[in-house]
Amino acid sequence: MNFSDIYFKLRCIIFTRRCRYCKTVVDVRKDVCPQCENEIFKIYGDICFRCGCSLKECTCKKKASLYARVCAPYYYKGAAKRAVTRLKFYNDPYMAETLAQDMAECFKTHYGEMDFDICTFVPSHKAEIKNRGYNQAQLLAEKLSEILGIPCKPLLYKTIPTKPQHTLDETMRAGNLLGSIVINPEFETKLQDTRILLCDDVKTTGATLNECTKTLLINGAAEVDCIAVCVAHKEKKEL
Ligand SMILES: [Zn+2]
Ligand SMILES: [Zn+2]
Repeated sequence: MNFSDIYFKLRCIIFTRRCRYCKTVVDVRKDVCPQCENEIFKIYGDICFRCGCSLKECTCKKKASLYARVCAPYYYKGAAKRAVTRLKFYNDPYMAETLAQDMAECFKTHYGEMDFDICTFVPSHKAEIKNRGYNQAQLLAEKLSEILGIPCKPLLYKTIPTKPQHTLDETMRAGNLLGSIVINPEFETKLQDTRILLCDDVKTTGATLNECTKTLLINGAAEVDCIAVCVAHKEKKEL
C-alpha cells in the first residue's frame, strides 16, 4: 500500500462525503452519487426568458408574463428535484446553500450584466413557516444575496394560507393566489424605480411569480426578474 492509498483510506475513515443533491453517502473523491450523476438535467444554452426553458425545449409560445425574465439552473426532475424535495419536505435547510451556488452560476450566465437593487423571495404564510420551520425561498434568496452581494429584503407578505400550488391545475393556480400577496408595509414607499430579483424554489406555471411581480410593480418597482432552482416543463412529446 503506497502513501496515496493510505491517505485515501484515512480520508474515508475521517470524512463521510454525501451526494450534494440527495445526501446519500458517496465515495470520498466524489460530490455526486451515481444515480444523481446520471440525472442532472441542467438548462443549457440560450433560454426562453418567459418560461425559463432552453429555446430548443420551450413549449410556452412566449406566454405573457408580468415579470421581465425568469431563469433557473435545472429542470424539475432527477437530482435537482430530489434536492428541492429535501429542502421543502425533509427539514434540510442546509440544502439552500448548495442550491444557491447553482443559482448564482445561472445568474452570472443570464443576468450577469444587469444591476439589481434588491433581492427578495416568494413569501410563505406564517402558518406554513411554522409547519416547515422556515421559508425555503427566503433561505435561497439569503444565500444567493450573500454570494452576489445584492441586499436581501422581505418585500412581500402572504396574508392568507393558500392551497399548495402543486396540488392545483394550471387554471386554478392564478385564482388560488389572488390578492394573497401584499407589500410588507415597511417597504411600501421604498420601491420606486427599483430593479428587483425575485427568488423561488420551483417555477411551474409562473402564477406565483406573476402574483408577486404584480404587487411589486403596483408599489413602484421598475422591473422584476425571477430566478428559481428549477423550472417544471412539459416535454414536447407529452403535449
Ligand atoms: Zn445523489
Ligand atoms: Zn418559453
